[in-house]
Amino acid sequence: MQQTARKALFLPMSLLNIPNIASQLNQQTREKFERVYEIRQEEGCLRLTDQMKPWVKENFGSIEVVEKQKVVRILNKITLKGASFNALRSQRPDQTHGINATLEELIQKTHGGPFCRAEEMTPEDAFGRIRGAYCITAANIAKSDIWHGVLIFHKHHPLDWEAEEITDFLATANQWFYKVHQEDSKANFPFLFWNCLWRAAASIVHGHMQMIVSSSPFAQKILLDRQTREYQGKYQSNYFADLYQIHNALGLTLPTTSPEIKAFVPICPRREREIIIMSDNFDQKLWQAFAQIIVDYRNKLGVKSFNVGLTPLPLNGEPQLNLPVIIEIIDRGDLSSNHSEIGSMEMFAQQVITHDPFETKRMMVS
Ligand SMILES: [Zn+2]
Repeated sequence: MQQTARKALFLPMSLLNIPNIASQLNQQTREKFERVYEIRQEEGCLRLTDQMKPWVKENFGSIEVVEKQKVVRILNKITLKGASFNALRSQRPDQTHGINATLEELIQKTHGGPFCRAEEMTPEDAFGRIRGAYCITAANIAKSDIWHGVLIFHKHHPLDWEAEEITDFLATANQWFYKVHQEDSKANFPFLFWNCLWRAAASIVHGHMQMIVSSSPFAQKILLDRQTREYQGKYQSNYFADLYQIHNALGLTLPTTSPEIKAFVPICPRREREIIIMSDNFDQKLWQAFAQIIVDYRNKLGVKSFNVGLTPLPLNGEPQLNLPVIIEIIDRGDLSSNHSEIGSMEMFAQQVITHDPFETKRMMVS
């Protein structure tokens, strides 16, 4: 792995170069890479009118990069998820920029809302509330599952937290999961999620996460379980361990607070600037590692609106699905823009990505 990383340093580390970077992996890792990924590197050409050229030069920096555009298409053959990457797309002029009120103004305006007075203004679960050092639970007023709770941060500001608070949020959610399971033994499949601010689908500005315990596994996890079992059967090798090995060799893993916790920036992400964290257990070590990563995600990448999905193991201790604990983090874009980053391509075809995972990795470790 070390040797591979040194060799690859001579190449510009970018997703645009992924075929070359992958060709320099050692044989065993390259085999795994080729099992999982199919890469196509293509060039799209266009002709600019003379009248457009000054505008293009000003907005994109060069005529040539626009007239001959490099597009990399990546397919994960195991999960059948695909992404197209063209760095130029992030430089497109955005005419909708700046239409929303500024974030800080909105945060001020919503201060004093129901989550600021959670004890009086939010419903509680039939068993009451779980109280953490920095948060309190409530029942969700419009449930998407039988057991659907809200973990309300004591602080109103949705981006005002540090690692210690995040660790407390996850510990409190874990207590809520087990309390639910104790009340209702059929409730067995926990899911913790964090929609931070409106671009990530949060309807309330005040900082909060949500918790569900379902009686059956979630559809996306059933699919991933099937796909990865098939991989295991075919190659006698663990998909998640191989995925980590590939990303480690590509230089896309992230340091974590504990060696058992594996984190990386995937080359075929679900959305922009995805980070995946994997662990065998949903415990203090994972909570602390996640806390450090999400603090860096906010501080170093400057991301303000994001989704986090966190799937612990079944609460009855029986591993019905052959999956590790997985945390996925994605960036949902600029809060001051009215331009949605999800369009028909993403809904019906495959992801279009503008942020290079290699750049995300560089920024996360800077
Ligand atoms: Zn509030």
